Amino acid sequence: MQTQNKVKPKIYNLKGDIKTFIPKKVMSQIQYLCTRIHDVEWSGILFYDTQGDIDNPSNFKIIIKHIFLMHKGSAGYTEYDYDEEVVGFRMDNPESLKWKIAHIHSHNNMKSYFSGTDMDELVENSEFHNYYLSIVVNNRNEIVGKIGFRGEGVDNTIYECNTGNGSQYKLSAATNKTIQFVYDCLRKEQLQLLQKVIIKMQKDNWQIQ
Ligand SMILES: [Zn+2]
Repeated sequence: MQTQNKVKPKIYNLKGDIKTFIPKKVMSQIQYLCTRIHDVEWSGILFYDTQGDIDNPSNFKIIIKHIFLMHKGSAGYTEYDYDEEVVGFRMDNPESLKWKIAHIHSHNNMKSYFSGTDMDELVENSEFHNYYLSIVVNNRNEIVGKIGFRGEGVDNTIYECNTGNGSQYKLSAATNKTIQFVYDCLRKEQLQLLQKVIIKMQKDNWQIQ
């Protein structure tokens, strides 16, 4: 990936959490994968659906739909590229065409947390999405997640973000006067806004309200 000319956005952690529901079926998928691939990292595409809009985080919900295993890596490393198998899966499962794409990977026997590499992946991929979800699991069923999105600077503390349905909204983020506007490439300051995801296990099938 060409990153030389890109200015890495500063990271700003937003307060408040996004509710994320993992249905029983997907939880079983995670447990199955962690049992079968328990000593190295695995990674895959996480399909999900949403309710509400991200500009109203308390009413915004993420519902995980399916995991598509992509790669079995080493003890501390895994990565993949979107390929024709995923396209095939989506063609065979038309309902998946409306699902959004996220990233899931396992830390096997290690703790579930966002490492430097995981943060970089989240920051880089959020450039291509209105918002980007990443989830880390491990063999002990510890699941953590983050949702990241870019904000375009309007001024020192106000950033404009995309809802994903064609509209934009503004977020206030006072970044401690460390903002550097990038005049040389005529780009507005970008901020990487992050929100923690609170993962809830669904006892029964999720009912779309
Ligand atoms: Zn990781």
